[in-house]
Amino acid sequence: MRKPVIAGNWKMNKTKLESIKLVTELRNLIPRTTGVDIIIAPPFTALTYVFEAISGSSVTLAAQNCHWEDSGAYTGEVSPPMLKDLGCSYVILGHSERRQYFGETDSTVNKKLKSVLRSDLIPIMCVGESLEERRQEKTFSVVEGQMKKGLAGLTSADFSEIIIAYEPIWAIGTGETATPAQAQEVHQLIRKILGELFGKNKAVQTRIQYGGSVKPENIDELMAQEDIDGALVGGASLEARTFAKIINFKPGD
Ligand code: PEP
Repeated sequence: MRKPVIAGNWKMNKTKLESIKLVTELRNLIPRTTGVDIIIAPPFTALTYVFEAISGSSVTLAAQNCHWEDSGAYTGEVSPPMLKDLGCSYVILGHSERRQYFGETDSTVNKKLKSVLRSDLIPIMCVGESLEERRQEKTFSVVEGQMKKGLAGLTSADFSEIIIAYEPIWAIGTGETATPAQAQEVHQLIRKILGELFGKNKAVQTRIQYGGSVKPENIDELMAQEDIDGALVGGASLEARTFAKIINFKPGD
C-alpha cells in the first residue's frame, strides 16, 4: 500500500520567527509517529530554522524550487546539494506559480528533476491544467504532455522515488476544489502514464498528491479516492490547527 504523503507549501510566507512558531505549534498537534509522511516546504530563508524545529518529530523538509546546476555563476539561485546540506529531503518542482510567473517550462522542470535525483533528494513534480484548458477539454492532453516532457530521459532504474502532484491551476488558492471524481480521473491517467514510462511496479508504488484548495472539510473525501495518495496544501498549511486536521484525515475503508 502507498503511504499517504501530506505536504505544506508555505510559498513566500513566514519570517524566521513566524516559521519557528508555526512549525512548533504543528509538531505539538501531531503524533510523534503517524501513518502519514508529513512534509513542510518553507521559503529558503527559513529552511535551517524549520529543520532545527522539526528535529525528533515526524515532519520532514522540502524546498519549493532549485536550480539544475550544482554550483556556478547563477546569481540568486540555490542548488540541490545546498538544499541537501540544509536537511531537505524533497524539492517541489514545476509549481504552476513558477511556470506562470518565472517562465518555467517542462524542459527546465526536467533538468531540475534530474539534478534533484542526482543529489539524492525526492522531487515533487507538479502538473495541472488551466481553467481555459479544462473548458476546452484539454486536461488529459496537457497533463500527459507535462508528465512526458517533465520525466523525459528517465528510466525506472534512475530513481527510487518521485512524487507527482496534480494541481489544477483553477483550484489553487481560489477556494474551488476539483471534485474527488474530477481529481481521481486525472490521477488515474497519471498512474497510467507512469506505467507506460516506467513499468507497472513503479506506477503502483508512486505516490500522487492532489493540490488545489485542500482543507479539513474536503480531505477525507479526496483521500478516499483510489489513486489519490496525499495532498499538496498551500493556504491551509499556514495555520497549524488547520494543517494538523488535514494530516489527521480519516482514512476511508
Ligand atoms: C499550492 O500552492 O500548491 C496549493 C495547492 O495552494 P492552495 O492549497 O492554497 O490552493
